[in-house]
Amino acid sequence: MSEALYDLSFTIAAFIFNVVLCVMVTVRGTEDKQKNLTFRNFTYILLVGNIVTCCDVMFRRAPVVFIPYSIRLVFYVLSFLSNVMLTYFFAIYAESFFETTKRRKFFSVINEILLVGLFALALISAIITIPNIGEDKYSYLLPTIPKYILAYFAEIYYLLYAMVVFVVNSKDLNRRVCITAACAFTVTIGTIVYEVFNPSEVYFNYFGAILGLYIFYMGVETPDYKNLMATMKELEMARLKADEANRSKSDFLANMSHEIRTPINAVIGMNEMILRETGDEKIADYSRNIESAGRSLLSIINDILDLSKIEAGKMELTEAPYQFSSLINDIAVMISVKAKEKNLSFNVNVNESLPDGLCGDEIRIRQIIINVLNNAVKYTEHGSVDLSVDYERTGDKCIVIVKVSDTGIGIKPEDMHKVFEKFDRLDMEHNKTIEGTGLGLAIVKRLLAMMNGSIEVESKYGKGSTFFLRIPQKIQADEAIGDYRKKFSSASADGGGYKELFHAPDAEILVVDDTLINLTVVRALLKKTKIKIDTATSAAEALIKTTEKKYDTILLDNRMPGMDGAEALPIMRTQDGGLNKETPIVCLTADAVSGARERYMAEGFTDYLTKPIESAALERMLLQYLPKDKTNG
Ligand code: ADP
Repeated sequence: MSEALYDLSFTIAAFIFNVVLCVMVTVRGTEDKQKNLTFRNFTYILLVGNIVTCCDVMFRRAPVVFIPYSIRLVFYVLSFLSNVMLTYFFAIYAESFFETTKRRKFFSVINEILLVGLFALALISAIITIPNIGEDKYSYLLPTIPKYILAYFAEIYYLLYAMVVFVVNSKDLNRRVCITAACAFTVTIGTIVYEVFNPSEVYFNYFGAILGLYIFYMGVETPDYKNLMATMKELEMARLKADEANRSKSDFLANMSHEIRTPINAVIGMNEMILRETGDEKIADYSRNIESAGRSLLSIINDILDLSKIEAGKMELTEAPYQFSSLINDIAVMISVKAKEKNLSFNVNVNESLPDGLCGDEIRIRQIIINVLNNAVKYTEHGSVDLSVDYERTGDKCIVIVKVSDTGIGIKPEDMHKVFEKFDRLDMEHNKTIEGTGLGLAIVKRLLAMMNGSIEVESKYGKGSTFFLRIPQKIQADEAIGDYRKKFSSASADGGGYKELFHAPDAEILVVDDTLINLTVVRALLKKTKIKIDTATSAAEALIKTTEKKYDTILLDNRMPGMDGAEALPIMRTQDGGLNKETPIVCLTADAVSGARERYMAEGFTDYLTKPIESAALERMLLQYLPKDKTNG
């Protein structure tokens, strides 16, 4: 192979391109981080290599008087080394696209050691050659094996390494970088492989390399692209931070709501005692106001709790069979009372062939329909509220179609898109006297989405609104609902004051709660039943009492400092000398989330009661679990 007569035209062209690229990366692409610096250094190294190679070839052509052999030898060796450096930089550049891992670090060190070895090899070969300098024209040529190692093995090794780094990690890259890298490597490696297998007089190396760098520059190293990527990264970080903040907010709200329910429990409970015991109509009136304010506070807390549970992904729906007639009857009774208070007519129309036995999350469906109906009453001053229920059946499933229309204030067209947004309350100049948080319909929409259902609204501002709900349910029993009112005609009759369900002077129960006032509330609520009540303010105290006396029922608070109810329960069931291993144990909890019941039952509780404790619910539950011979109506 003739070493001296290489054609330099491609190398000189590469040199010009290289200078242009160096200027561009220096002037435009400097603001960036590590990877961009690697690319910039890469272009500089390429330029130095290019110059060295040009000098080498030109010096070999020059007369010896001008360029002595020693200088030629130096440039000859440097030209090999610059080729090695060039491909070594390809490897480094490829690595700069990925995070450094232990494995990658290991290979980087191998590459560095290899580079040092190649430099040493070049130096030793050059030293061996020195004694022959000047003997003939090509006497400074390196021995064949080191020369081939430097010229081909090293170059191909580093390029293949770079390519493998890209291919193995390509899943971490976006499409654009992948395509750019593929094009750049095809061009660069293509020219080098061509030169290895097709030795010619033309020197392609640098031309291929600079084309590869241009492709990288255009593809991924342009400042615009880098800015875009940096902005996208910042946006992603901001999104993650916002998600995190939203999660903490939801957790905080859920926790706070839980904490707030406990004192409201006390307020509503004690107020109930005032209502029952006062003979003074004025005080009873004050007390009724406290009750109504307490209940609306509770419903706000429940909304916040629900929404934060939904947003934190912790809301679970529980499907169970239920009677639709019972559900719609309860709702109709409740809403008709409210409609009556505002002198509105309330009409209910239920398709009589609708299957009565459905399966779904009854509590949530109740909540959804009540919410929409409450709004209809709330935002209507004159006229009527209509509820109609129909269904579409497919096999053993159906979609319950609920339509709620009112002749109320309606919604402005420009506000329609905000109706289901959380915290959005519309038309505030007209609605400012109407209580609300703007959470109700947001919860309804999310709950329906969880059930694969939907809600839509049509409205004429000033004329009224109609909400259309589609609620998918499973059909449990085919029996048609018929006239739901007939089934429950007695249920709505009783609207009078409090009357205890039973008397149980011989029954004994234990109530465990760390909040003293809650114990007082339970005592007060059950006063007229004459039931005997022992109390304990901690699980530890309760566990002593359960070895001293056999109770007929135990009411056990779940959330207590130290040992909580769920921890105390299994001990009560198994403790040495325990007298209450079989006693019904009812969990008292402020956790009113759907699915809670199943969870408590699974933990071994006999049943559960939510706080604030409703007097009627408490009595019903006790009646169920107290021995029949100890209770009498
Ligand atoms: P709020 O607690 O304010 O009632 P909702 O989420 O239930 O919150 O409703 C959001 C808003 O949609 C309300 O503030 C009200 O402006 C409007 N809206 C809801 N239902 C009706 C209705 N039937 N008629 C008129 N406006 C309604």
